[in-house]
Amino acid sequence: HIDFKYVRDKRDKVLANVRARDSTADVDKVVALYEEFSSKTQVINELRQQRNAVANEMKTIQEEGKRLELVEQGKLLKDQLAALEAELSKITDDLQREGQKIPNSTHPEVPPGGEGCATLRRMVGLKPDFQFKPKDHVELAKELDLIDFDSAAEVSGQKFYYLKNEAVLLEAALINWSMSHLVGRGFTPLSTPDLVRSAVVEKCGFQPRASNTQVYSVEGMDLCLAGTAEIPVGGMFMDKILSDAELPLKLVAFSHCFRTEAGAPGAASRGLYRVHQFSKAEMFAICRPEESEEMHEELITIEEEMFTSLGLHFKTLDMPSEDLGAPAYRKFDVEAWMPGLCRYGEISSASNCTDYQARRLNIRYRPAVVDSTLEEPLSEATVEGQAQPADDANNSGSSSSSNSKKRSPKKKSARRLSPRFVHTLNATACAVPRMIIAILETFQQEDGSVLIPEPLHPYMGGRTIIRPKA
Ligand code: AMP
Repeated sequence: HIDFKYVRDKRDKVLANVRARDSTADVDKVVALYEEFSSKTQVINELRQQRNAVANEMKTIQEEGKRLELVEQGKLLKDQLAALEAELSKITDDLQREGQKIPNSTHPEVPPGGEGCATLRRMVGLKPDFQFKPKDHVELAKELDLIDFDSAAEVSGQKFYYLKNEAVLLEAALINWSMSHLVGRGFTPLSTPDLVRSAVVEKCGFQPRASNTQVYSVEGMDLCLAGTAEIPVGGMFMDKILSDAELPLKLVAFSHCFRTEAGAPGAASRGLYRVHQFSKAEMFAICRPEESEEMHEELITIEEEMFTSLGLHFKTLDMPSEDLGAPAYRKFDVEAWMPGLCRYGEISSASNCTDYQARRLNIRYRPAVVDSTLEEPLSEATVEGQAQPADDANNSGSSSSSNSKKRSPKKKSARRLSPRFVHTLNATACAVPRMIIAILETFQQEDGSVLIPEPLHPYMGGRTIIRPKA
């Protein structure tokens, strides 16, 4: 459901967006493939018509010579069609593959440029004022016996880790706290599969086949390790038509995330900062197109409230065009102060993907019926001449207006809006490793202990402090 016609008709606009986002998508290749696809499809349709006409004529012809001529003609058409259909299938694959690379359009307020061009939305709290030299989380974890990197390097490789002792409780507490908090705010909890089909990964806007892919694939199988719950959650709604009453849908998913981190900078990857596997609670929202900007604000506000309640110092950024992943129309990141690493580090990310993933995953909703007597036009949605189901009829709240009563019931019940693509959004509620970094480094004490933020106490089996082992 990529809108190739739009790409062709608005080629200059699409190209400008691809450049602004520093994307490798080849717009002209997509346009050329689409032209080829359209003309081949037209020829195939014409040949199919001819083949049908020949088949119909054969039914009426008695004369043997003419019959043989028609058989020959039919065979020729069949062979031509088979060859053209094979060509079309290859062009369709190429078109889809190249089309998948074209990024979403960009919100007009997104700052243009690369890293460093982000604009500041909010700054919360202050850097802690230590009367001693703060340690980084690697040193703290060693002294408090919380993480074993060495065994993980032997067993799994670099950038893996074992959590130990209170760090294990802290991981569970962070996930439980964030999931419970969001369930309290009306989100539906989910726990998702770690392995997902590569087609679903692609439809969500990730590229498992790219040379520098962040996605692990399982050899010999059409499966990938999910890099984020956004993939299995989005995939859950693939090819569905939701009812208007179901929207907005707000979900919070617990999952493990796997990332190759190919090409990631080494210096900024100390300890837990950039690892191959981690746990995360992720918010995912499905809403009507006109609601997605408001929903984006809601998700970032939830993140800000959660990190504020933990007592972290952080800033919220409107990320620049070159930093947006292909599916994002706009992205807000939160960067928390990590006193030991002595820098801000990204702890969460909230993206509005508008209809980018919905088109590829084919997730739609049927808008509520608008009273046909209203003067307002029906905007983008079209009106189908189909029977109106009973539940849709219930949604047409204003149908009892005096004007509508005059209409014939048959005519009124024949109005129904066709399905539209939803908008999807995703936002990190809690990505465990960097939360552990921010917590250990922010709440460390001079005696080497670490205070646990108050909201996590109920989930830590009564522990409020991590003390050095005797
Ligand atoms: P993303 O899904 O890439 O927007 O990442 C969401 C959050 O996951 C980030 O804000 C980080 O807190 C965390 N994260 C991403 N990649 C890694 C990684 N390789 N290691 C540890 N945490 C990560």
